[in-house]
Amino acid sequence: MTFHHFQFDSKLQDGLDAIGFSKPTPVQEQAIPVIQQHRDIIACAQTGTGKTAAYLLPVINRIIHTDHRHLNTLVLAPTRELAVQIDQQVEGLAYFTGVSSIPVYGGGDGSAWDAQRKALEQGADIIIATPGRLIAMLATGTIDFSHLKHLILDEADRMLDMGFYEDIIRIISHIPAERQTLLFSATMPPKIRTLAGKILKDPVEITIAISKPAEGIVQQAFLVRDEYKIKLLSHVLKAYPWSSIILFASTKEMVKKLGKAFERANLPARAFHSDIEQEERTELMRAFKNKQLKILIGTDVLSRGIDVEGISMVINWDVPPDPEDYVHRIGRTARAESTGTAITFVNSRDMRRFQSIEELIGRTIERMPLPEGFGPEAVPGPRSEGDRDHKGRRGKGSFPRRKPAR
Ligand code: AMP
Repeated sequence: MTFHHFQFDSKLQDGLDAIGFSKPTPVQEQAIPVIQQHRDIIACAQTGTGKTAAYLLPVINRIIHTDHRHLNTLVLAPTRELAVQIDQQVEGLAYFTGVSSIPVYGGGDGSAWDAQRKALEQGADIIIATPGRLIAMLATGTIDFSHLKHLILDEADRMLDMGFYEDIIRIISHIPAERQTLLFSATMPPKIRTLAGKILKDPVEITIAISKPAEGIVQQAFLVRDEYKIKLLSHVLKAYPWSSIILFASTKEMVKKLGKAFERANLPARAFHSDIEQEERTELMRAFKNKQLKILIGTDVLSRGIDVEGISMVINWDVPPDPEDYVHRIGRTARAESTGTAITFVNSRDMRRFQSIEELIGRTIERMPLPEGFGPEAVPGPRSEGDRDHKGRRGKGSFPRRKPAR
């Protein structure tokens, strides 16, 4: 199937051609016709599946034929990074169409607020907003939702994890009940079902099978004790070929610590976290995208939404608490059918979590022998606080050691 199947306006098709999208991805194939029929959607699809274009394309196509006098569409997203990326996709896809968008997100200084407010006064077809900032903007009275036709929630699970439930409900109270609502979420926990029950009307359900890591990713793990991790990290940086790396850690504190350790070692790495000023975060992301910065260190927030080509390696300093976050983390490499390496450091406490990941992805990850002098291998220990398996159960399980890779 090609995009011609959807009979988009020729100006939108020109945008697709210019960007180089020729074949719809599975989520696009499933969602676009349903959106074209004006149905609500609840879609289980992750970043990397092409979900953004799945909702943007039919919406932009509809806006082309409106009179552009009113705000038409609101997209809610959990983070500014995702909001900016969605805005960039609108810019690319809608380049020849005259359809416009404004990103509205927090952080930055007063001038960012003023610029966003000014843009809102001038008007646009689409607003892409993080919930907290949008609530603040609503109070200024610059946004008129009375003609809104589409409400889209992107990464709804992450928005709820970040505590935006009340904000979302408040925002929706300003929006006409007569609208099309599209909800996209990487996971479908009960709280998403509850939200969907409240805000969607007779939705069509679309599930893109939990994205298994791309075939092109080589996955390896070291069973290593905490005290040897730094030494192992510098070994990996020397022993493996790489051009660009994301190093993930589960907490902001660890990200900061690692940032400092790299700084002391004079390595081209920077920590990326929410305590850094917005301007610096944008600068870091830009430097990482254009490969001036070789190593970016971040938490799982960075694993969602960030869309950077050519990341050759992902290193997991620890095992993420949610097995699906592992899939998100390593999905940052081997994008667009290229290849990449994902290496995970597993200490005693993380072994159960690691096992849950293997259950989720349905394969065993290759255990690499520790080089000489890197201490005895970590052995299974007490599990980390609050650990659950990939189905959300607390339970027992034995940790299989050193199974051959399949
Ligand atoms: P998303 O899941 O929306 O974050 O998209 C992941 C990546 O896939 C982005 O870099 C998109 O630009 C890209 N993409 C989306 N749809 C297509 C398509 N039909 N063909 C090629 N690339 C696509």
